[in-house]
Amino acid sequence: MTSACPGCGAELPILVNGATHEYVGASSACWTRFAELSATLPPAPLRRLVTDAYMVQHPGVPERRAIQSVGLHLVALCLVLEHGLPAEQLSATLQRILVRPPAWRWLDPPVPNGTITIHEVAGAADIDAYVRSVWQAWVPHRAQVEAWAAAAVGR
Ligand SMILES: [Zn+2]
Repeated sequence: MTSACPGCGAELPILVNGATHEYVGASSACWTRFAELSATLPPAPLRRLVTDAYMVQHPGVPERRAIQSVGLHLVALCLVLEHGLPAEQLSATLQRILVRPPAWRWLDPPVPNGTITIHEVAGAADIDAYVRSVWQAWVPHRAQVEAWAAAAVGR
């Protein structure tokens, strides 16, 4: 028995009693694979970036926590990929945005939401392509993400 992950669409065996996340829109099998992969990565920049991309690829449903999570992770991807912010500085930058959060809003997820799934990422070498593929899918929302990012860096 398999089911399609509601985020990335990957067809994976159904995990009975598998772990899930409260508001991340991923199947249990997909979430478990992500957790296993990220545990093998160095915290920054790779684990940081793969987490940002994964959360954006699994946006869940329009509720407050999911909306803020997707917004923050999109800002992170935008700052690193478009503005060259070192991933090591992301946490401090995002902390600033959380002190005075912008008016987050739900952005309709792109279809497809990236062309690579976490299940095609075998190790560190594949992560750059994965992260860029997810961000590319969200480029139609770039103006909104840039506005949120500007608040983060105080522009
Ligand atoms: Zn998935």
